[in-house]
Amino acid sequence: MILKAAKFASDKHKGQFRKGNLNTPYINHPIKVAYVLEKVGGVSDPETIAAAILHDVIEDTDTTHSDLRNIFNEKVADLVLEVSDEKDKPRDERKAMQIKNASNLSYEAKLIRIADKICNIQDICGADIPNWSYEQKFEYLEWAKGVVDQLKGTHKLLENHFFDEHRWGRLKL
Ligand code: ZN
Repeated sequence: MILKAAKFASDKHKGQFRKGNLNTPYINHPIKVAYVLEKVGGVSDPETIAAAILHDVIEDTDTTHSDLRNIFNEKVADLVLEVSDEKDKPRDERKAMQIKNASNLSYEAKLIRIADKICNIQDICGADIPNWSYEQKFEYLEWAKGVVDQLKGTHKLLENHFFDEHRWGRLKL
């Protein structure tokens, strides 16, 4: 299932790049999120790992919930939908919704959400996304912390890793 998810996500994200960095194919990001889940969080459930690899296909490609249900299963499709923003809403509203809805996510969706924020901070404050301004990076860091603050008590190792990365990100700014 994990390999099938990797194949599916790589096909769907083909030609997409990571936050404007033409050196980083988009697929690098969801693979890293799945890797962090297993490596840092010890998460081994194949459906959760597959959903992590697929976590942006509804939001950023033409994939639908029913595609994922047909190709994978209900649980994987539901998890990906849970962590997808509603694309038709304005950016600020989507960001506010993530904070507001964080505590309503399922346990597995919360794990994916925390791992996603860990990877985004690493990329934004590291070398992967060099063209963001100080303000953009600062705003992202504080917003991501706002989301993960709502997820406290989900998974100690992942949360601690997030707050370590957040501190490191603040120092790197
Ligand atoms: Zn992501």
